[in-house]
Amino acid sequence: MQGTIACHACDLLVDVSELKTGQRASCPRCGHSLTRIRKDAHSKVLAYSVAALIALVTANAFPFLSFASSGLESVMTLPQTPAMLWGNGLPMVAILVAAFIIYIPATVLVLLILLCMPLRGERWRPWLKPVGRWVFTLQSWSMVEVFIIGVIVSLVKIMKMATVTMGLSFWGYVFFAILFTMAIAALDKYQMWQEIEALEEQRG
Ligand SMILES: [Zn+2]
Repeated sequence: MQGTIACHACDLLVDVSELKTGQRASCPRCGHSLTRIRKDAHSKVLAYSVAALIALVTANAFPFLSFASSGLESVMTLPQTPAMLWGNGLPMVAILVAAFIIYIPATVLVLLILLCMPLRGERWRPWLKPVGRWVFTLQSWSMVEVFIIGVIVSLVKIMKMATVTMGLSFWGYVFFAILFTMAIAALDKYQMWQEIEALEEQRG
């Protein structure tokens, strides 16, 4: 990724030393396309997002935690967490918890897929710009890691009173949280907008 490129069409030397992954350079004199540094950024985001979505579905389908105390056992699933809060007279908290731990992250993942599928195939889609904006707005409202830490802290307390077993869904959610974080980390905002704008120009 060094130095200058001579334009194939008009021989002008163009400095592309500041070119970052995902940017394209074209000749300022004649507009001839010079180079495009690709890395599989969108394929990575896409792979993590699809895997995270599968992990999230798994996390909702099986027992999350089970508690055993003096011969009684109770099993809790992830969707039951907000349902229990609702039942305990905390509907607002229930809605917020469901949104922060399940629905907002799920929406972010679906948006990431909608964004990276066309970007990977270099196809313009009319939803690219609004989806790009929403991804970055919503991701700050998903509290996946906060929830995991909260669960671990409460588990330490509950373990003194009952035998706690982590169910398949618990590990599914941990897996989902890791994949979700990796998907967000793999998405470069600058590169994304560069590519969206490039696609928009190409189309026009
Ligand atoms: Zn040129």
